[in-house]
Amino acid sequence: MKVARILGVPFQTKGRQDTITELTSRVQQEERTHVVTANPEIVMAANENPDLASIFDQAYIVPDGIGIVYAAKWTNLPIYERVTGIELLEGLMEQANQHGWRVYLFGAGPEINQLAAENLAKRYPKAQIVGRRDGYFGPADEIGIAQEIAAARPHLLFVALGAPKQDMWIAKYWDQLQVPLAMGVGGSFDVISGKVKRAPVIWQKLHLEWLYRLLKQPSRWKRQLSIPRFIVSVWLDRRK
Ligand code: UDP
Repeated sequence: MKVARILGVPFQTKGRQDTITELTSRVQQEERTHVVTANPEIVMAANENPDLASIFDQAYIVPDGIGIVYAAKWTNLPIYERVTGIELLEGLMEQANQHGWRVYLFGAGPEINQLAAENLAKRYPKAQIVGRRDGYFGPADEIGIAQEIAAARPHLLFVALGAPKQDMWIAKYWDQLQVPLAMGVGGSFDVISGKVKRAPVIWQKLHLEWLYRLLKQPSRWKRQLSIPRFIVSVWLDRRK
C-alpha cells in the first residue's frame, strides 16, 4: 500500500474515486479498515500525542484539507487532491445503496443524528440504516454503545464525535466493534441534516473552505492556530 508521510503521518495517495473503489473492495473482502480524514490540525495533534500517532500508523488516512495537498506539493509527495469526509461518506453510501449494506450512524446531537439518518435513508433507499445514536454520552455508557453497534453488524460505521475524539473512540473499541469499515466523519452529519451548510462551491474551488468555516464559527480560530504551526513544521522537516 503506497503512503506518503507528512510529519510522520502516513497518507494514502489515491484520489477520491480510487479511494472509494479501494474501500469498497476492502468491505467486500472483509478486510477491516479504520478510515481517518486528516487535516493539518490533526497532523499536529498526532505529532504531540504518541497514542494518536500509533493509532494513525494502523489506519487508512486520507488528505482532508487543502493544507495537506499544499504540503505534499511543497515536499514533492504524490498527493494531488483532497478527499473530504463528507464526500467519502456519500461515495460509500452510494456503494451501500448498490450492495444493500448495513450502516450505523453514531454521533452529533440527537436531532442532527435523527435528521441525518432520515435524509440518508431518503437518498440511499437500498442502504439499510440498522442503528443510530447521538454522540453525547458518559464514560459508563461507552461499552454498551460499542456492544449495541457490534450487535447491529453494520458494514459501515460512521462516527461523528469531532477529531481526534472519534478516532480515539474507534481505536479503543476496535476489537469489540468487528465492523469492516469505521470512519470518523467530524461535522458531516451536521451538513447532511441540513442544519449546517457546507461552503459554497466557489469557496471550495478557491481552496477557502477553511476560511468559510472560520467566518461561520469564529470560535474555531483557536483550533486553526495549528495551521501556521503546521506550515512551519513542514518547512523545517523539508530542510532535514
Ligand atoms: N460531537 C459529539 N459528541 C461530542 C463532541 C462532538 O457528538 O462529545 C459532534 C458534534 O455535535 C458535531 C461533530 O461531533 O456534530 C463535530 O463536528 P466538527 O465540525 O467540530 O468536527 P471536526 O472539525 O472536529 O472534524
